[in-house]
Amino acid sequence: MILGLTGGIGSGKSTVSKILNSVGIKVFDADLIAKDILELKEVKEEIKEKLGNKFIIGNKTNKKLLKKEIFSDDEKLKILNGIIHPKVKRYYESLSEKFLKKKEIVVFDIPLLFEVGLESLCNKVIVVDIDSKIQIERVKKRDSLSSEFIEKILEKQMPREEKLKKADIIIENNGSLEELENKVFALIERIREEKYEDCSPSGKY
Ligand code: ATP
Repeated sequence: MILGLTGGIGSGKSTVSKILNSVGIKVFDADLIAKDILELKEVKEEIKEKLGNKFIIGNKTNKKLLKKEIFSDDEKLKILNGIIHPKVKRYYESLSEKFLKKKEIVVFDIPLLFEVGLESLCNKVIVVDIDSKIQIERVKKRDSLSSEFIEKILEKQMPREEKLKKADIIIENNGSLEELENKVFALIERIREEKYEDCSPSGKY
C-alpha cells in the first residue's frame, strides 16, 4: 500500500516521515531523489546547456545558486522542472508498480505530488496542513530565509485550500511535536487495522 505524503513548504512532511520511519515504515523522499538526479552526468549537461555553465561548479551542481535563481525567474523554474520532474516521475512509477498492491505500507514523500500529478500512483494521499503564519515562522527558523523569499516559494506551490480538497487524509500540524506524533501513530494504527477507508475522503487528524 502506498501513502502519498504532501503539503506546503515547512508543513512538516519530513517530521511526519521521521515518525513513520520510527515505526518501521519505509519512506521514499522526493527531495533526496531529486538531489541525486541533479548530480547525474546527463542532467548536469542539460543544466549547462539550457540554464548556463555557472550552475555547474567543478563536477557538482550549485544547488544554492539554482534555488536562488529559479524562485526569482519563472522561465528558469520551468526549464529546471522540465529536466527533473520526468525523471522523478519515472522513479516513482516503477516503485508504484512494486508496492501498490502489496500489504506493506510505504510512503512517497513528495512536496509537489499534486503539481506533478503523481496522486494516481498512491492508494491514499495524506496532506500535512499548517496555518500560513506558523508555516512561515517555522521555515524562517529552519532555513534562515526572509519572509519575502518564503512567500515566493509558496506562490509556486498549489494553494493550501486546493491541496486540502484533494486530500484523502489530513494531518493538521499547528500544535506540538508530541501532538503530531500522536496523530501519526493513531493514523498508522487505523491503517494497519485496515480501517483506512474510514479516513476517506475527509479524515482529519
Ligand atoms: P519542506 O517542504 O521545506 O521540505 P517539510 O514539510 O518537510 O518542509 P519539516 O522540515 O518537517 O517540513 O518541518 C519544518 C520545520 O518545522 C522543521 O524545522 C521542523 O523541525 C519544525 N516542525 C515540524 N513540526 C513541528 C511541530 N509540530 N512543532 C514544532 N516544530 C515543528
